Formats: sequence, C-alpha cells, structure tokens
Amino acid sequence: MSGAITYISTRGRTEPLGFQDAVMTGLAPDGGLLIPSRIPDVSDRLSEWAELSYPELAFEILRLFSDIPEADLRAMIDDSYRGFRHPDVAPTVQAGGLHILELFHGPTLAFKDFALQFLSRFFEYTLEQRGQHMNILGATSGDTGSAAIHGVRGRKRIRVFMMFPKGRVAPLQERQMTSVLDDNVCNLAVEGTFDDCQLIMKDLFADLPFKRRHQLGAVNSVNWARVAAQIVYYFYAGLRIRTAEGADQVSFSVPTGNFGDILAGWFAARMGLPVSRLVLATNENDILARFFRTGRYQRGDVVETLSPSMDIQVASNFERYLYFRVGENSERLQGLMGHFAEAGSLEIPVEGESGVDPLFAAGVCTREATLDLIRRYHREFGTLLDPHTAVGVAVAETEREEGVPMICLATAHPAKFSAAIRDAIGESAHHPVLDGLLEAPTRCQTVANDRDAVGAVIAGQG
Ligand SMILES: *Cc1c(COP(=O)(O)O)cnc(C)c1O
Repeated sequence: MSGAITYISTRGRTEPLGFQDAVMTGLAPDGGLLIPSRIPDVSDRLSEWAELSYPELAFEILRLFSDIPEADLRAMIDDSYRGFRHPDVAPTVQAGGLHILELFHGPTLAFKDFALQFLSRFFEYTLEQRGQHMNILGATSGDTGSAAIHGVRGRKRIRVFMMFPKGRVAPLQERQMTSVLDDNVCNLAVEGTFDDCQLIMKDLFADLPFKRRHQLGAVNSVNWARVAAQIVYYFYAGLRIRTAEGADQVSFSVPTGNFGDILAGWFAARMGLPVSRLVLATNENDILARFFRTGRYQRGDVVETLSPSMDIQVASNFERYLYFRVGENSERLQGLMGHFAEAGSLEIPVEGESGVDPLFAAGVCTREATLDLIRRYHREFGTLLDPHTAVGVAVAETEREEGVPMICLATAHPAKFSAAIRDAIGESAHHPVLDGLLEAPTRCQTVANDRDAVGAVIAGQG
C-alpha cells in the first residue's frame, strides 16, 4: 500500500485528516486519539540511515508522516535541533555494560524538548500559512510547562499561558519557566493546587465560544507530532549501536508515565527497527507495569515519588497502543474505554508466559531502589543519573539479554532533580544553565483560583 498517510481516530468516528490538520487539532473530534492510517515499512533503509546525522534522520522519518513541502520541513527540523548543546543532539555513553541515551541536551534539559521544539515551529508555520493565531493554554507541575514555554518563546502568531500551582513547584523548575521574559510567554501562578489548574483548563476548553474567540490551543502529550518526533531517537541510537556492536537487534528501557515516549519506540519497532525488547519501567505508580504483566489496566491513587514526571495513574497515550492491540477494532476499543471510564478498569486476555505482548517487559522500581541505583552508578561508574532515568536503568538490569545491546533512555539531566541526587549521594548535581537561573530576572503573574480570572488574562483584561 502507498500514497499519503492520513490520520484516523482510535474511536473510528472521525473523517480522516491530513498531517497538518491532525497536529493542529491534537485530540480527535470524537474523543479518540489520532493515529496514522498505515505504518510505513522502512526495513530496507536501515543501513543507509545508520550513517545520517540527527537532523538528516529526523527529516527522513518525519517526511513519511507529513504532507508539507520537503524544503519547509527540513528547515523546521534544522532549526528545532540547532539549539541542542551536544553536536550529536542525542549522544550515547556507556555505564555498567548498558548504553545510556542522553536526551537532555535541549534547552530545558529534558527529553520533552525533542517534541516541543519541533511542535511549536510547526504551529508557527501552519498559522502563518493560514493567517491564524493561537493562544496555548497549559497546566503544569513542572517539566512539560518549561519545555512548552521554551518551544514557544519568540515564535510568531503564538502566545503561551502556563498555569502552575503557586508555591508548589520545585523552585528550580519554576525558575526555568518564569525566567523566560519573551512577550509571548505568560506565566500564571494560580492560588490553588495542580488539580485546580487542570480544572480551569478543562473548563475553558469546554467553553466553545471562548475557545473559538481566543483560538485556544494545547500542546499536550497526545498530539501526534510529539510521538512522531520521538520516533527519531529510537532509530538514531538503535541503528548506530547495532552497527557499532555488530548486533542484530537492540532493546530499549524507557522510564514511563503517560506512555508517549515508549509508544514512539513501539512505532519504531513496527516500522522495522529490529527491537528485541521494550522495557517499560515505572515508579510506584505502576498501572502500566501491572497491565503488561496481567492484562488488567486498573486505576489507583497517585502517590508522590522521586520521579514526579511519571506520577500518573491514567496514561494518556495508552489508548493508541490498545487500539492496535485489539486488532485495530474501534468498536472493541470503545467498549474497553467505556468500561474503564465507568468502572476504573479494563482487561484483555494474556498470551501465555509472555504476558500481554512479547515485545514488552515491564518492571517497577521503588523509591529506595531508585536511590540505591543512583548511588551505585555514581560510585562504580562515575555516572550521575536523574531519578527518572534511574528507574529505567534499574529495570533494564533485570531485563537485559546476552548479545542484545540495551539502550536506556536518560530523560532528564540529574541537576533538574537535585534534591533526589542529594538524598542519594550527599551532594548536589549542577548544570551551568540551571546555576545561572538563580541570578536571572523573572516574571510571573499571580491569579485567583478561578476560571474567569484566568480567562480575563487570556482576553487581555486581567
Ligand atoms: C515526561 C517524562 C517522562 C515520562 O514520559 P512519558 O512519555 O509520559 O511516558 C519520564 N521522564 C521525564 C524526565 C519526563 O519529563
């Protein structure tokens, strides 16, 4: 099958969309998630791709999914990754026989930059073409907010309003947001909790006249462009390491929260990257690890951990995987999601010993085990891992196979989570960018815990 890829909804009740419309929309109008109508097979291009630079490879992969002119796409990609602080963009180092894929050389020192640097340029390009503007509204407890702000800063036709719970975000994470002084960035410290911020966001998006009048947009993790941009580093690292080690296959270990990152790895495998295992690693919020072992997906209470970006109970991208897992059957998927919405759980049959899917191996790493692992890697290999990465590395150690290189995704720089590092090794981690923030001027507006107050700021009356 060939021809341009279109985007269809997992729930099966949306007319197919082109790439640009799919990315501008984010969520499918029928409430489902948008997925490509077919998955391209690239297995005959692997040796050629192993030689490409990061931006060259990103172009080859993203052009398969997009419908915009190639010169424009190439320029957007080059610009997205130019600001990364390492010439390889996504370099790999070794520790204890594992390969650590450093995804923290972007502007905010976490892997979300890979997607959000690209997505914001894509928005700017499309808005320009269509003569439109967009006001991005977001709610954050830390990481995603700063990656979104640093993507949008200085872009034309887009403004970003980022809400966070006043006094409840780690000081350094807050400064990564509030030190951005560009005119099109508005930080809002809401006098409430993170849940209050999310409620305000839901409320304003549900107010369709308001949403239309102010061209509200979102950059949440279900946007297809975020998944697509993340597919690239699986191929980049996988192909290079496979060649260097003379191996047939590679495995990846992924510290997982909303299932966006590991879903990109699953797509890479479906496209023809030879992957032996995808190791899904969680902290104590283990709904996904339980699913891949037992077939039962059951909501629990969120507990606070050392890896806050993985503190979720309902994984927003999981529905995409589930759709393929039930044979691309929208009816069946709707039944399962309906049951989950009502009863807080769903269940699918498990296939023998290998659990739900032989490609996945799932494991949990507790708080104590995370601290132990950070300590051990620091002492034995001189490598400092952030607590999210440590969760992935801990599970990778038990799931690695002889002769198959194991690539562990390092999703944040350790200096972003300095308190956990201090608990583990008794000293702080540093990065010049973060140290510099302590002196930087900041700007932030405090608003009441009230949708009308936030709405007034967006309307330019607050
Ligand atoms: C967002 C995030 C994760 C989890 O990624 P998902 O795509 O939500 O599974 C892991 N580590 C860090 C540092 C993150 O910011």
